Amino acid sequence: MSSPKLFIPGPIDVSPATYAAMSRTMIGHRGSEFEALYASTQTGLQDLAGTSRPVFLATSSAWGVMEAALRNLASKKVLNLCKGAFSDKWFDVSKKCGLEAEKIQVEWGQPICPDAVRAKLAEGGFDTVTLIHNETSTGCMSDLEAIAKVVKSFPDVMLIVDTVSSFSAVPLKMDEWGIDVLLAGVQKALALPPGLAIFAVSEAAMERAKSMKNRGYYFDFVEFEKNAAANNTPSTPAISLIFGLQHILQTIAEEGIENRFARHRSNNALIHAWAQRHNFQHFAPEGNRSVSLSCFHTPAGFDQSTFIKNLKSKHNFLINGGYGKIKGITFRISNMGNETTATMNELIHAMDDVLATM
Ligand SMILES: *Cc1c(COP(=O)(O)O)cnc(C)c1O
Repeated sequence: MSSPKLFIPGPIDVSPATYAAMSRTMIGHRGSEFEALYASTQTGLQDLAGTSRPVFLATSSAWGVMEAALRNLASKKVLNLCKGAFSDKWFDVSKKCGLEAEKIQVEWGQPICPDAVRAKLAEGGFDTVTLIHNETSTGCMSDLEAIAKVVKSFPDVMLIVDTVSSFSAVPLKMDEWGIDVLLAGVQKALALPPGLAIFAVSEAAMERAKSMKNRGYYFDFVEFEKNAAANNTPSTPAISLIFGLQHILQTIAEEGIENRFARHRSNNALIHAWAQRHNFQHFAPEGNRSVSLSCFHTPAGFDQSTFIKNLKSKHNFLINGGYGKIKGITFRISNMGNETTATMNELIHAMDDVLATM
């Protein structure tokens, strides 16, 4: 049997058309053909990010840029907003970079409260905040607009936002909301194979970066800006992935961004309705639930590993059995990327079939 279809929250299912686009004949990256390829990605990415700034392409996973944003912007003290596996780890990464860092830690599954951010920043000394918009480990989405508004009222504080599992699934308005760095990896909501990260940097953040010592080379924001002016990247990029990105952005333009957001909402609602039928409880509170994935408590006495195993062996679909310290006690289902009502219903029928035999 072929590998299972992925309904885990990343990497997610990649369409045959995307693979086909990625298998185009290789080109050199210092030439007009690559420059045209690079340029073709900009409008689509800018629309999704809600920015008129260039959107840079980094050959790395999301963590490359998550770390780079700290190295390019933070010299005083970082405030890491922690609410799950990825956001908690960002606090560790701040310290691993040798930075002074504090955190606001909420219980996993809960959102970040804007007022708590205001109170913490008012203590003073901070120059950078990190936020994970959609905490993929818990299925909880924080109110990015409200938090950005708070951070913006502290003019010397830069806001770095990870939109790895929300980019292209929900509206993002980087410029309007005043986000300084917005980043995403492509293997989540963009439905590409892993290996590429995209990010945009505000003018103020770029000025800050220029004044930072020891930015290194590979992830130097200033190098990215210089090369982007010529539709290029500092070092040899993952060109095949950029072919794939170009294809995905074409499909998004054809579908229409608003239609894409609506499709994510309705696909997500199908999973919510399924969960309600089986009395599965959400891990995140109502009002802060992700629309690109769902995370549920594993009910007492429910044999989650057999459910997931049988779904795979009988129907060749893969869902996820929880991440980090909530592995086993939660399970997660993605509806990111190219899923349709039909494909979500295939998954739902398969899950119902497996549940009926348990
Ligand atoms: C998956 C994920 C990451 C880590 O991405 P990598 O591509 O593995 O570096 C970071 N943040 C969020 C919200 C994620 O879902």
